[in-house]
Amino acid sequence: MPDPAALLEIRGVARGVDLRAFGCTRNHLATAVARGEIHRVRDGVFASHTAPPEVVTAAAHGGALTCAKALHHRGIWTLAEDDRPHVWLGAGGRPHPHPDCRCVVHFRAGTMRLGLADVEHALIHAFHCHGDEFFFAAFESAWNKMLIGSAARSRIRAALPTAGRWLVDLARPDAESGLESILRLRLHLLGIRLECQVRIPDVGRVDFVIEGRIILEADGKGNHDGLSHRHRDLQRDAAASRHGYETLRFDYAMIIHDWDTVLAAILAALARARA
Ligand SMILES: [Zn+2]
Ligand SMILES: [Zn+2]
Repeated sequence: MPDPAALLEIRGVARGVDLRAFGCTRNHLATAVARGEIHRVRDGVFASHTAPPEVVTAAAHGGALTCAKALHHRGIWTLAEDDRPHVWLGAGGRPHPHPDCRCVVHFRAGTMRLGLADVEHALIHAFHCHGDEFFFAAFESAWNKMLIGSAARSRIRAALPTAGRWLVDLARPDAESGLESILRLRLHLLGIRLECQVRIPDVGRVDFVIEGRIILEADGKGNHDGLSHRHRDLQRDAAASRHGYETLRFDYAMIIHDWDTVLAAILAALARARA
């Protein structure tokens, strides 16, 4: 007999009708539920025990987990947003009541399958829910992780409102963290031109250079932690200074919560560079 638990392992949740295409009869499913091998989410919908709880919640509600949480589950960098599950029901889906529901529901076109929304749709939904910066950082992260190819990027661009398409045009595949993406987007909006991922002798590759003189680094992206990294950063800063650069480092808390301080530091450094 087909193993419903093994089939469910792939997407976490599925409708019984879809499992029947793999030879699972109602009886097989009922037996697997009775044996505790799988879990019945609601009538006709089943989950593996390893399915992420938010994916199961979305399936209980009648849809796929989308927006920030779906992107996060796929390893895409996201800004912290509200912690409610966003659920994609398709254009004409039917919401199902369930206990402790805090879901934010999206009726949007496209082929919805229970589980995690695909990256393409999750990005489009996130643009509408979480705005330009969230979308831009997640889009660059998804591209950097090779989760959206050129056809997908074109479809995403076409699905955005006209006023949002420039974000896709500005995006690059080499941003290594969302902090870099957000820093670049904000400075772009201020008309400050950045060179990205610049290689400097004795220093190595830096995130950004402005006016050929100022190095900007977005720290706290996983590779700046610990004492040895700190030592290496200090060595890099010393080498940069020797070559005539000034280095400014900002971390997540500064960029996200104290942007005024970051901007004032950048503008002052720019004024010095131009003097
Ligand atoms: Zn719900
Ligand atoms: Zn949403």
